[in-house]
Amino acid sequence: MTAYPFDAPASQALLERALAVTPGGVNSPVRAFRAVGGTPRFMVSGHGPYLTDADGREYVDLVCSWGPMILGHGHPAVQQAVAAAAAKGFSFGTPSENEVALGEEIVRRVAPVEQVRLVSSGTEATMSAIRLARGYTGRSIVVKFAGCYHGHVDSLLAQAGSGVATFALPDSAGVPKEMAAETIVLPFNDLDAVEAAFAERGSEIAALITEASPGNMGVVPPAPGFTEGLRRITAAHGALLISDEVMTGFRCSEAGWFGLEAGEQGYAAGAPDLFTFGKVMGGGFPAAAFGGRADVMALLAPVGPVYQAGTLSGNPVATAAGLATLQQCTPDLYARLGEVADALTAGLDEHLSAAGVPHVVQRAGSMFSVFFRDGQVRDYDEARAQHVPAFAAFFHSMLSQGVYLPPSAFESWFVSGAHDDVAVDRVLAAIPAAASAAAEA
Ligand code: PMP
Repeated sequence: MTAYPFDAPASQALLERALAVTPGGVNSPVRAFRAVGGTPRFMVSGHGPYLTDADGREYVDLVCSWGPMILGHGHPAVQQAVAAAAAKGFSFGTPSENEVALGEEIVRRVAPVEQVRLVSSGTEATMSAIRLARGYTGRSIVVKFAGCYHGHVDSLLAQAGSGVATFALPDSAGVPKEMAAETIVLPFNDLDAVEAAFAERGSEIAALITEASPGNMGVVPPAPGFTEGLRRITAAHGALLISDEVMTGFRCSEAGWFGLEAGEQGYAAGAPDLFTFGKVMGGGFPAAAFGGRADVMALLAPVGPVYQAGTLSGNPVATAAGLATLQQCTPDLYARLGEVADALTAGLDEHLSAAGVPHVVQRAGSMFSVFFRDGQVRDYDEARAQHVPAFAAFFHSMLSQGVYLPPSAFESWFVSGAHDDVAVDRVLAAIPAAASAAAEA
């Protein structure tokens, strides 16, 4: 395989224009490549499993827009649905049928979700779910886990994952300390810590929010019994359990994380009260949702006193894209995603081992990531104890060989139904050289 040169003149020229008008030249921090160095690639098109950059180079895409592109880029059924919806108008500011159909599809797939409200981003979904939980319980404290990212909601930025982890920030400037004081941050996979926090402040806690299976510190699945423990403890203290499935929803299985292996038994110990969704359900357009128990959702305006609204909520084009995408999310699709993840994780493990690079590959459904360290990673401290320079070397070798990975060691990798054997083989062929580069870092 021909390696691309490290420089990318057309992307660099675009970056310089972008830097003049936008902080860091990007509209979302991790895109800037700060953690890995080099020029962020400005993409001009995507087809199936491939992205093409401004310099005309093609990459196998293992980011998939950070999750939404589960069918690959430009899937014909979604393109048709979007074109048909757009032909009828872009936004009405009234209720419309597509949003009902998308709501029905979510309710049908995720058994405990009795009602949903559509919003435009995952951040909006978690922000609204937290407000609703506070309104329902009349309490204000929220418990979250270090390394989990729930969007850039003020009260949820403390020790957050994703870009906050990439840049090693403890939290964000601009969040009032009063707001931060409303958040308790605990280590993931540590039920004793959860028990202790609730024993101390249980009567003040409105909700515990967790990523159903975290993907924002790299992939760190809950240990067996952990989620059940969260359900037991929150219920005992009258706090709501919010499962953030923005990343895992409709990605890990047709029903999301809880549908992965156990099906309905996924809720054996009781279902979360509220869920948040995004990414896949918007098919690459801005659509997200929160939903759950009907008695809790009934507190939302215009029925109840908790206010929440959006000019573009339930947008007819975005909901058409989401609906068309979910309609393609069949058992066959998840079987293919699993095969692709099997092939790639096996290749990573084999070649990193052969090159003597300390590593562990972790997986949740078809989501996976590599930590450049030995031993299982169960929480954020363990995720941070990896050799980030090895990741950066690996990343750049893969990039130069035409494979686009997340430009951070603290992110999940994503595959799509469009990743055929040709695309998978291109990735597998690139891994040995990248493993050697990581070994030298
Ligand atoms: N929750 C989780 C679990 C996420 O992964 C993300 C985004 N990566 C969000 C919330 C925020 O979603 P958005 O970027 O659409 O605001």
